[in-house]
Amino acid sequence: MTGAKTSAENRDVYRLMPTRLQETADSGKTRCNLCLWRCGLHHGQRGFCQAHVNRNGTLYNLSYGIISAMDVGVIEDKPVRHYRPGTQVLSVGSYGCSFRCGGCHNLEISWGTEALDELARGESRAAFVPPDQLVRAAIQSGVQGIAFTYSEPAVWLEYVLDVAEVAHDHGLYTVYVSNSFVTEEALALLKGRIDVLCSDIKSMDDTFYRNICARASVDQVLMSIKTAQNLGIHVETRTNVIPGYNDKDKNMGAIAKWIHDHLGSQSPWHVTRFHPAYRMADVPSTPVQSLERAAELGRERGLEHVYVYADKGCDCATENAPVTDFLPGWASLHEVNKCADTCCGKDGILLGRYEREAGLTGARR
Ligand code: SF4
Ligand code: SF4
Repeated sequence: MTGAKTSAENRDVYRLMPTRLQETADSGKTRCNLCLWRCGLHHGQRGFCQAHVNRNGTLYNLSYGIISAMDVGVIEDKPVRHYRPGTQVLSVGSYGCSFRCGGCHNLEISWGTEALDELARGESRAAFVPPDQLVRAAIQSGVQGIAFTYSEPAVWLEYVLDVAEVAHDHGLYTVYVSNSFVTEEALALLKGRIDVLCSDIKSMDDTFYRNICARASVDQVLMSIKTAQNLGIHVETRTNVIPGYNDKDKNMGAIAKWIHDHLGSQSPWHVTRFHPAYRMADVPSTPVQSLERAAELGRERGLEHVYVYADKGCDCATENAPVTDFLPGWASLHEVNKCADTCCGKDGILLGRYEREAGLTGARR
């Protein structure tokens, strides 16, 4: 299994970046071990997230340095309340997610299938921002930290880790906003690089998780959250309360009890409000009474820091400022993202040949 660092000279121009955690499986496939899908991929195939591709037996991340959105705000907006309160963070996300939530608000960014297809075809003009440049943008924006959010950070962990190292070198903290469907190996790579995990606990019902990700179970998600805490990462949790789906007393009480018993009575729990979207457009916004009831249950189970947000949903759900607002005048921001000649060579368009051979061009899951 590879876990090699990325050399600085490799990351300053757009190119395919070797997937950090990959191994050759007995079946002849190459397995990605970044998230718990553990996709086994043949030459030409892309993983569930669409952000990793097998080329001739090696997995590569397509989205290294590709930014879908940025924004600046207080850390409390993530939401995180017990780490450096009142400080500002630069939030940044790419394309691709390991889940397919029915109520996801920002499919173009979070799932990003069209953007990732364009990258695979070598036709993308999405913003490419190397780690050093991103940290420079953060410093120029006057923030104290960088948050990886909007989609699942595990699917571009290569970039997250490189940025986190540069950010720490410059005294910035790092926040990772996650669905926690991640492997133990990927969590181990976060140790010492990520300061804060803000994780969803969407439900205590396996059926709920299986409906948004066929492979996910409650135990896997909870285990990842606990592992992160054991690694010394500051952990806060969030539940987006969805009417008729996860809002029953039994479910909310069980989430609160798990947090109390496994993360501690001091561990913050953020209760946010669902707003209708996508396949759940017919589900009403969460009544404020349901949020207050969840908070009451949290306090009854012994949690000392429960926060209710009548005006806030999932972090994936926000409208975000264009990347150009933070990197004005930077020439290479929206150049076409193609591999260097030394990578794809005369094959020309990035991956096109491989995807055509595998009959995958434009394929969706
Ligand atoms: S990060 Fe993507 S390719 Fe890797 S296991 Fe997860 S879904 Fe599959
Ligand atoms: S809501 Fe979050 S975890 Fe779910 S699909 Fe959207 S980005 Fe992924």
